[in-house]
Amino acid sequence: MNVNVDIIPVTLGISRSYVLRGDSVIAVDCGCAGKGGSFLKGLEKAGIAPGDVKLLLITHGHSDHIGSAAEIKSATGAKIAMHSCEAKWMESPVMPAPPGITRWGRVFMKLRRYIMPVEDVAAAAVDIRVGNEGISLDEYGIPGSVIWTPGHTPGSLSVLLRSGEAIVGDLAMNMFPLRLTPGLPIFAEDYGALIRSWEMLIEMGASTVYPAHGKPFPISVIKRKIGKG
Ligand SMILES: [Zn+2]
Ligand SMILES: [Zn+2]
Repeated sequence: MNVNVDIIPVTLGISRSYVLRGDSVIAVDCGCAGKGGSFLKGLEKAGIAPGDVKLLLITHGHSDHIGSAAEIKSATGAKIAMHSCEAKWMESPVMPAPPGITRWGRVFMKLRRYIMPVEDVAAAAVDIRVGNEGISLDEYGIPGSVIWTPGHTPGSLSVLLRSGEAIVGDLAMNMFPLRLTPGLPIFAEDYGALIRSWEMLIEMGASTVYPAHGKPFPISVIKRKIGKG
């Protein structure tokens, strides 16, 4: 397959979905709750019919990435794909956070509502449970693959196109008030895993980083942060 892929950002609240158009169309992430209409407007602007979207690839189960998935799924008929270990966050949405068990833990959970939007996420069935081996996107007309890139969460996924564009969810961030400059995320469940995921993406040829929060930036920024460039 030798297809140029258009990468179309669609803002959905504090996060963005990236619509990828090759021989077919997929979307990466589904933004905050109540943003189905904004997604459809973004499609219309790009001249894409809702029914053309075949897959909704969710990078991870945080509410600002799965928020409008149910709405977008019913408007497009697309399948939802997510890592198997986070599918439950979509199928019976809960804020995936343990209760604070220390004083700081409790304070943090109170602050959390300002950091991550607390909203009612509608449940949707996950059609494709992606394992650690990832999946190819060839059958969706997109030259690239879905890669397991744990760190921000245990089941975080990224899309790596053969041309080097990496759509990474929250494996990177580039938006105030999360960050002032592009770089690594400010929340990660496993920092070591996060760095290993980046080393793997770099080795696989990632050249441009497309974060879910903020604008794309070159991989050299990440290489400098992790001491590889
Ligand atoms: Zn996140
Ligand atoms: Zn996020």
